[in-house]
Amino acid sequence: MKILVTGGAGFIGSHLTEYLLKEGHFVVCIDNFNNYYDPLIKRHNIKNAMGSGNYLLEEGDICDVSFIEDIFNKHKFDSVIHLAARAGVRPSIENPKLYQKVNIEGTVTLLDASVRYNVNKFVLASSSSVYGNNKKHPFSESDNVDFPISPYAATKKACELLAYTYHSIYSISVSCLRFFTVYGPRQRPDMAIHKFTRLISEGKRIPIYGDGTTKRDYTFISDIVDGIVRSLDKCKGYNIYNLGESRTVELGYLISLIENAVGKKANIEYLPMQPGDVDLTYADVSKAKKELGYNPSVPIEEGIVRFAEWFKKTLTGK
Ligand code: NAD
Repeated sequence: MKILVTGGAGFIGSHLTEYLLKEGHFVVCIDNFNNYYDPLIKRHNIKNAMGSGNYLLEEGDICDVSFIEDIFNKHKFDSVIHLAARAGVRPSIENPKLYQKVNIEGTVTLLDASVRYNVNKFVLASSSSVYGNNKKHPFSESDNVDFPISPYAATKKACELLAYTYHSIYSISVSCLRFFTVYGPRQRPDMAIHKFTRLISEGKRIPIYGDGTTKRDYTFISDIVDGIVRSLDKCKGYNIYNLGESRTVELGYLISLIENAVGKKANIEYLPMQPGDVDLTYADVSKAKKELGYNPSVPIEEGIVRFAEWFKKTLTGK
């Protein structure tokens, strides 16, 4: 299959691409290498893929309608996996218009092109953040998600709604995937596990927002890639799936796992909770299990060790 992966140079996109190439697919990557974090990291992420004859990098912006038109015209895609977005909750509060533009307008541009060029499978990266401070645990796809507490979360919910509208009008098949905090090698440097590992390794203070009792459902990258691929295979109609590990991990426990993996104690600075941050995320993955055969297999205790090993290797340049 010829698959378009938007945001393919990012953390999740680069792992997904390597998996798809191994499976024998042809992958076209769209990425604009923006400076949300160091673009050199993204160049490094696609180093392996660049060596493949089944890989093509198309550098540009998903909001650039004529660029997207040109790409769809040039390639006959079987499916689109749309991961490109401005990610990150806190920066979305600083710059909501940018999030609205890239996440919503960019998604509409891609849905539109997919319909006009008869691409009938569209997988969309959504987020657990759409659940806001949902009081019912674990979070299920049928829960009401009308109360996002950050602009980022609101854009992801808007993308799900627009995707439904395109499905309803044009019968394009869409799978919206609500990822629950993804981690592993190449994780974005702004994300907690990466940031804490770096700061603890350097002997610097780590900022903790709240009292350390907030809880997250952390999902290892290989489980997310597996879920994406399964949802692409079964992409029919309109569906929303939670992709998480379906386990909550308290922040304090997460830090102790990182301390053990790094071999150093954390120096913690407690700060007030930040607006936009939710207290808890917890995925009910029974729908993905039943309909996709999704079965996450890397527990946080193992995943943190694997992340720390990768982190040490990147520091030594190996
Ligand atoms: P990432 O920032 O590493 O990857 C996103 C990629 O998209 C980047 O390489 C970036 O350069 C590219 N991009 C951004 N704007 C673009 C634009 N206008 N045109 C072209 N390319 C653009 O982030 P990630 O962690 O790999 O996340 C991938 C997707 O998964 C995002 O949609 C994100 O919102 C979603 N998500 C991630 C997590 C997580 O824990 N990492 C959780 C929930 C949802």
